[in-house]
Amino acid sequence: MDTPYASALVWFRRDLRCTDHAALYQALKAARTVHCAFVFDTALLDPLPRQDRRVEFIRDSVAALDGTLRALGGGGLHALHGVAADELPALARRLGVQAVFANHDDEPSALARDAAVRDRLAGAGIALHTFKDHVVFEREEIQTQAGKPYSVFTPYSRAWHGKLDDFYLKAYPVERYAQRLASAPAPVVPELETLGFERTNLRALGIRPGTEGAEALVNDFAGRIDRYDALRDAPAVKGPSYLGVHLRFGTVSIRRLAAMARRNASSGAATWLKELAWRDFYAQVLANFPQVGEGRSFRPEYDRIAWETGPLAEVRFTAWSEGRTGYPLVDAAMAQLNQTGYMHNRLRMVTASFLCKDLGIDWRHGERYFADRLNDYELASNNGGWQWASSSGCDAQPYFRIFNPVSQGGRFDPEGKFVARYLPQLARLPKAVIHAPWTAKPVDLAAAGLELGRDYPLPIVDHAQAREETLRRYAVVKGRGA
Ligand SMILES: Cc1cc2nc3c(=O)[nH]c(=O)nc-3n(C[C@H](O)[C@H](O)[C@H](O)COP(=O)(O)OP(=O)(O)OC[C@H]3O[C@@H](n4cnc5c(N)ncnc54)[C@H](O)[C@@H]3O)c2cc1C
Repeated sequence: MDTPYASALVWFRRDLRCTDHAALYQALKAARTVHCAFVFDTALLDPLPRQDRRVEFIRDSVAALDGTLRALGGGGLHALHGVAADELPALARRLGVQAVFANHDDEPSALARDAAVRDRLAGAGIALHTFKDHVVFEREEIQTQAGKPYSVFTPYSRAWHGKLDDFYLKAYPVERYAQRLASAPAPVVPELETLGFERTNLRALGIRPGTEGAEALVNDFAGRIDRYDALRDAPAVKGPSYLGVHLRFGTVSIRRLAAMARRNASSGAATWLKELAWRDFYAQVLANFPQVGEGRSFRPEYDRIAWETGPLAEVRFTAWSEGRTGYPLVDAAMAQLNQTGYMHNRLRMVTASFLCKDLGIDWRHGERYFADRLNDYELASNNGGWQWASSSGCDAQPYFRIFNPVSQGGRFDPEGKFVARYLPQLARLPKAVIHAPWTAKPVDLAAAGLELGRDYPLPIVDHAQAREETLRRYAVVKGRGA
């Protein structure tokens, strides 16, 4: 086996596992001794609130990774705390490695960070090698016949499924070379408190970090995947996989998940595989059209929309974010997000539509709010989802398609169970009116012990009227109404 390097360093970032790991495998193949490192990057951590479920998830996943690397072959992680662009090159120099290996991260800020690291490493004569790991197909791997990136999902998905075969889903056999892992100093992964953060309700929510947590979810979902297509749209039932946070931080391999779905002939598994293709789709949109990650609409004409601003818009945005719009499905969804850091996919669509199309508020405010709170926050998918809902995106829903939060509730939460879980004050309303409490008869309100305006708000906007205003507001995209 050809090992061009005497020693190398693997830089873990959003890939917190050591099985089926592209960069780790390539480093182990290319070097006789391989060190591993993770940087708690103050450039990312400093602006965050002191309680953040993601930081706790990452910290505990890094500690678990350190343990697994040690168990594998005496290895372990160098855990650093500081600005990654300074810390990582400094460690590489101290260790005297000839190359650093890492997996691709195509978010604009990560690309800028990596460019700075590459420059500093080059100054010390150290190479930086990066690899695809986070997605099945990345960047320019799936293109139209004209050699352009896809901007519409259906043909992209067809090409994605057409290209998918065992080769692309093969696991990287890291274990084969584990004896090349260098030992690191005794465990030094800082405690959460040392990093300046406090514990959250992550564990109380049953969210288990690390590959062990991912494994438990994969096993649980494997028994339900066949019914994914039937159950995925009902927020009150356990339909989806809840693997988003593990995919985000790489505590599970995307190849493993795609292979699991591909092996299964059920329509549920086929639908789920398509969701993984959506994830790749948005990742390649961000890689090929990075302006979407910098606050611009994919379709520039949508940046001409005059969104609501001023004190009333601010009051309404706060009501939306705190779950006080008077529309139970929207409010219960926001409560789910605020209390758990998760929101069901159907409800992400409903709440996003409500913000842009019922309240007339710029989708970028909602995008930011989700970014701050979602455990599985992923710039590419979040931006894709918001641009889809606001109709400004590449493959978005047409602007005149406006979700009605009452009928969405009747359709996807017909018993009102989801609403009752997060808005217990509505639990005793008849299910016929639970999604529109203002239509309840006084006798039903009294029986439910509910006074509207006191125990639960009246609607902050009238949906039918808001719909008309939105159609007027959006007319500008057709060159009218500007
Ligand atoms: C406004 C809005 C914002 C969103 N923000 C994010 C985000 O920040 N991070 C994120 O991972 N997903 C986001 N999504 C997509 C989707 O809602 C979540 O991926 C999904 O709800 C996560 O739950 P799960 O892991 O149980 O998903 P499952 O239904 O089990 O799906 C499995 C995986 O497929 C991927 N996936 C599923 N649906 C989509 C989709 N529409 N787009 C891209 N990937 C998808 C995710 O990685 C997900 O974990 C957003 C959707 C909308 C409409």
